[in-house]
Amino acid sequence: MVKETGYYDILGVKPNCSSEDLKKAYRKLALKYHPDKNPNEGEKFKQISMAYEVLSDVEKRQIYDDGGESAIKKGSSNNMGGFHSPMDLFDMFFGGGFGGGRQRERKGKDLVHQMQVSLEEIYNGAVRKLALQKNVICDKCEGRGGKKGSVETCHTCQGKGVEIKIQQIMPGFVQKHEQICRSCQGHGEVINPKDRCKTCNGKKTIRDRKILEVHVEKGMLDGQRIVFSGEGDQDPDLQAGDIIIVLDVKKHPVFQFGSNGTDLAMVMDLQLVEALCGFQKVIKTLDQRDLVITSLPGEVIKDKEIKCIIGEGLPEYKNPFEKGRLIIQFNVVFPNAIPNELVSTLEQCLPSRPRVDIPITAEECMLSEYDPNADSQRRHREAYEEDDDHFHGRGPRVQQCTTS
Ligand SMILES: [Zn+2]
Ligand SMILES: [Zn+2]
Repeated sequence: MVKETGYYDILGVKPNCSSEDLKKAYRKLALKYHPDKNPNEGEKFKQISMAYEVLSDVEKRQIYDDGGESAIKKGSSNNMGGFHSPMDLFDMFFGGGFGGGRQRERKGKDLVHQMQVSLEEIYNGAVRKLALQKNVICDKCEGRGGKKGSVETCHTCQGKGVEIKIQQIMPGFVQKHEQICRSCQGHGEVINPKDRCKTCNGKKTIRDRKILEVHVEKGMLDGQRIVFSGEGDQDPDLQAGDIIIVLDVKKHPVFQFGSNGTDLAMVMDLQLVEALCGFQKVIKTLDQRDLVITSLPGEVIKDKEIKCIIGEGLPEYKNPFEKGRLIIQFNVVFPNAIPNELVSTLEQCLPSRPRVDIPITAEECMLSEYDPNADSQRRHREAYEEDDDHFHGRGPRVQQCTTS
């Protein structure tokens, strides 16, 4: 038993969930609440990051399960090291690791997009076009923002982009403020307004529409990342970041992912007669072929029994001629009733029933419909009262009971 479920609740998972479930939950929520998309949900984004950072670490998860949030907070102030910032955690998760250090600072932000794909597209492969807006360096001024030689270092801040204000708050005490330079808006340089580039208005970059061709390869997985290196926003002072497409596979009406990356799973209804007397069924594959499966007369398929077709699952990524299994779970549909006159005939067809000895003192009971939401105590009591009334012939109370 875990002490609290708060972190699990934030991610919308159960306390016994796997690390894969955690990753999936974090991926969905972090993309949804990322400040780029949802600037007003900063607090929520932080909570998601905190919960994921704790639960994705085996040691921290154990501490949380045993002692709850207070144990984690205590641990992080002692010896467990602090937490990453939500943004760093996000970059690590989607951008593949910290590292890089200084180099990473010189690189612009990665743009992460989630793209919905169908199971058919994963099975057959597909090329999708994705239109997006991004900043590109202005051609006209080649990213200078103005005519050659018109760009000067800002005199106010000496090119630092920040001004330092010193304010005396009482004799002998001064307070230092750092604020963005108002002369250059933090750019560290100024352009004479008449030399400013007309195309980008001195901003050095312009917004441009870009069409990306996304190759969804056979056998890619839900959550797989496709990276367009250096395709992010351009900035003359930074190395362009990447565009990262994260695949989100839509639910399919028939097939689901099996437990590994290549198995497909489906549920197939069978009528009782098919389960007992054999059947043929047709399955339409994700590439629109028809597969026929046969159960010979005399074979019996039991309810919930699982069979598979080898080689009819999903293709392996990078090795698409190898395919996984199509796993079929049978759901046997029983008839609601059998005509009375046929029961004895049917009985002769089936294995004989076991002998049951009924003790002479056995009490006869009624089988009722089971409703899991009903209060079992009350039902029990009502049944008793009705019985009493029936046996003692107190008619009117029966009516009172049944209408209440
Ligand atoms: Zn300045
Ligand atoms: Zn320009």
